[in-house]
Amino acid sequence: MGFQPGSRLKENIRNLVVGPLMVNTYILIDPKTCYAAIIDPGAEDARILSEVERLNVHPAIILNTHTHGDHIGGNGMIKAATMAPLAVHQAEAEWLADPSANLSNSLGFPIVSPPADILLEGNESLQVGDLELKVLHTPGHSPGSVCFVVDNVVFCGDLIFREGVGRTDLPGGDTDQLIHSIRHKISTLPEDTVLYPGHGPSTTVGYEKRTNLFL
Ligand SMILES: [Zn+2]
Ligand SMILES: [Zn+2]
Repeated sequence: MGFQPGSRLKENIRNLVVGPLMVNTYILIDPKTCYAAIIDPGAEDARILSEVERLNVHPAIILNTHTHGDHIGGNGMIKAATMAPLAVHQAEAEWLADPSANLSNSLGFPIVSPPADILLEGNESLQVGDLELKVLHTPGHSPGSVCFVVDNVVFCGDLIFREGVGRTDLPGGDTDQLIHSIRHKISTLPEDTVLYPGHGPSTTVGYEKRTNLFL
């Protein structure tokens, strides 16, 4: 078997589906150093932590693609257990500890996350061991939505799903912004780029270009 683009990385991405809204929590592992990023630990923190232990990796950072309650519920426990810094986009820094703003009140399980240690703006790079993650600011589903790009893989949160896109009717949502984010930051990536969304199965830029009206 020849080298498949992204295959090296894909083997080092673990996916747990957590909480009542079935959020994808991703554990992204740098195979060289065994450092890991924990992306959107939405709930079921004990299960995420036991997976981290089972994999024997060292969480170097906790990342939230955005701060809706379904994506941040595990921040507190995982930060306490691992001492890893938490990074979110600056536009939603205040939402972390505000159950009305992060919508966890209306979901019926108020969440107060610890504050972020790193405030993202977009276009910066984050280091997880030897992996470099590029941050893209992709507002639309929420004002501080971001994507994390590493090699030919994108963790895209609730910006885009397989054959769908994120809601824009929630506070701070904006359909024009969402379409702009998708067209300028996602559609422009190579077709074999793998998208790992906040909910549902992974997809590729090429597949979405053929099937998703928003691209
Ligand atoms: Zn959301
Ligand atoms: Zn979500």
